[in-house]
Amino acid sequence: MEQKIDFRSDTVTKPTAGMLDAMMNAKVGDDVYGEDETVHSLETKLASMFHMEAGLFCPSGTMTNQIAIKCFTQPLDEVICDQTAHVYRYEGGGIAYNSMASVRLLYGERGILTPELIEPEINEDNIHYPKTSLVVLENTVNKGGGKCYSLDQIEAVHNLCAIKGLKLHLDGARLFNALVATGDKAAPYGHFFDGISICLSKGLGAPVGSVLLGSTAMINQARRLRKVLGGGMRQAGFLAAAGIYALDHHVDRLAEDHQHAKALAHALAQANYVESVMPAETNIVLFDVVSRYKAEELVRALDKKGILCNTTSAKTIRLVTHLDVSSAMIDQTIEVIGKLEI
Ligand SMILES: *Cc1c(COP(=O)(O)O)cnc(C)c1O
Repeated sequence: MEQKIDFRSDTVTKPTAGMLDAMMNAKVGDDVYGEDETVHSLETKLASMFHMEAGLFCPSGTMTNQIAIKCFTQPLDEVICDQTAHVYRYEGGGIAYNSMASVRLLYGERGILTPELIEPEINEDNIHYPKTSLVVLENTVNKGGGKCYSLDQIEAVHNLCAIKGLKLHLDGARLFNALVATGDKAAPYGHFFDGISICLSKGLGAPVGSVLLGSTAMINQARRLRKVLGGGMRQAGFLAAAGIYALDHHVDRLAEDHQHAKALAHALAQANYVESVMPAETNIVLFDVVSRYKAEELVRALDKKGILCNTTSAKTIRLVTHLDVSSAMIDQTIEVIGKLEI
């Protein structure tokens, strides 16, 4: 078997020749001294796209999320998020460690939070209760199978947060997938959120990096926190150049990944070993295996046929489409899905 087809995550992409070229030719300086013009270009490019005042380039989305949560809370505060949220499940317990805040978990439909879900969970001012200070949304929702928020849904949550005096942060690791899928503009996001975290290393295909967007005051504080966490990088323009290249060349093509995910979901829905498939809105396909099989058995069977994917629970499997999965590979995978016997 030649090269395996890798659906484990959209983080597995390798830089394209064009991206490597842009990286090699980047103008760099010491970014801790504020002297790297390529990092500065990336930060201002995204900030202006989202009508935010400022941006901060960080090594990972975990760092941008954790810094934002720290900026928007005080110790003993409480953060509201969905129980599937990356900030809660996959950031190593960082909210407790970095921000000394507690978390109130909600159960949204495919991870989507609404004012109706949030409002009853906002603590009233009482010394017994932690002070609710922040709501975190995720778009697209990773564990919701790449589900997108509509701008109306976001506006409704924003309005509640404004009335209640809460900050609103967006874990937008895959925000560009949501923008491409919905056709929504970037600018309203800057209006609705106090902080936005965007990953360049997911579907956009850059090797490293995330950008945090917010007000100038918030980003100034975030820059201090990035330094404390060891995330101040020197000639980081080589990496930022990959991010700029990704924004210029890899956004529109996300539509192709979404088509691919729909095609996979369609094929899986017909397979007799599949119980149910979540509708694929963006580049993530989540499906449950029928009860006589374990998800990990199916993952092993697919691996033998040259297809890599991960389980996300005992019965659930996730496939993620990306830049390094071609239409020919999708055809090949659909053929395997149709013929597979386990
Ligand atoms: C990948 C991801 C992040 C950030 O992950 P890093 O690996 O730290 O860059 C944050 N939120 C979501 C929803 C993600 O999928």
